[in-house]
Amino acid sequence: MDDKTNLETQNETSELLFSFGVIADIQYADLEDGYNFQGTRRRYYRHSLLHLQGAIEDWNKESSPPCCVLQLGDIIDGFNAQHNTSEKSLELVMNTFQTLKVPVHHTWGNHEFYNFSRDYLTNSKLNTKFLEDQIVHHPETVPSENYYAYHFTPFPKFRFILLDAYDLSVLGLDQSSPKYQQCLKILKEHNPNTELNSPQGLCEPQFVQFNGGFSQEQLSWLNKILTFSDINQEKVVIVSHLPIYPEASDSVCLAWNFNDALAVIWAHQCVVCFFAGHTHDGGYCEDPFGVHHINIEGVIETAPESQAFGTVYVYPDKMMLKGRGRVPDRIMNYKKETVLHF
Ligand SMILES: [Zn+2]
Repeated sequence: MDDKTNLETQNETSELLFSFGVIADIQYADLEDGYNFQGTRRRYYRHSLLHLQGAIEDWNKESSPPCCVLQLGDIIDGFNAQHNTSEKSLELVMNTFQTLKVPVHHTWGNHEFYNFSRDYLTNSKLNTKFLEDQIVHHPETVPSENYYAYHFTPFPKFRFILLDAYDLSVLGLDQSSPKYQQCLKILKEHNPNTELNSPQGLCEPQFVQFNGGFSQEQLSWLNKILTFSDINQEKVVIVSHLPIYPEASDSVCLAWNFNDALAVIWAHQCVVCFFAGHTHDGGYCEDPFGVHHINIEGVIETAPESQAFGTVYVYPDKMMLKGRGRVPDRIMNYKKETVLHF
């Protein structure tokens, strides 16, 4: 390679293609500050809405606006259910999101299910499946209605996949339904505690009631999209409320069957990164297969003088997360053999 070619290659790979925003665990409630379950982290229930407003102002002001924002779940806090303020709080947060000039994709977390049933969510503004893209002549890439997941293409050669980490869960379901019974059975097989939110004594501490998992049906669908993306040399970003990689997360926060999801992802070349919320403390690790696992710091545990959101800038050879406040910057290089050439 001569010098000229080398320079051209550098120019080519430094070109910004597009960007997108990320934000997690807003957990708004019209309540005084409180603490997490362990009493170790302050929760700013009211201020979380101001943090969201600040994030939206920043995204709206960016010179080349992000293509969309990924909201990683737990948009309002479970306490709203006890105060009968679930709908009011959701409306307030959704009205705030209305001021964002670009589309937002909503993921569902445990706090969505503390406030609403799955049926309610399906018919609510938190269902953004209408933003999905379909791949013509590939019916195997159409998700089933049995879980809340979809994919879309924000830019040619890039595919984003939203996963439903509470596809297997005892939350949000009618207790008389066969699926509830099936999920309760799975949970109890792995967690003998009377209090199913307690990981005490568990060798697989992720098997608690506030987590959930992925059905084989959803994982099989994921496998089919990733196959399509591999064949078409696409780059894939996956989003889920629950993290799936132990080195990047507290083990009590992982999806029940995180190993099954990793096995599907690791069987493909196309996945660049996996974004999750739920942990509040954040976390990051590149796994041995070159997939970057990023857990975004939660808004709810962010002091008023700080911030917690980010913008990811996408290039032909990497993605760069520019974090604000508690969210650190990250560089996510693509696997070497898969750098895009435009
Ligand atoms: Zn959560």
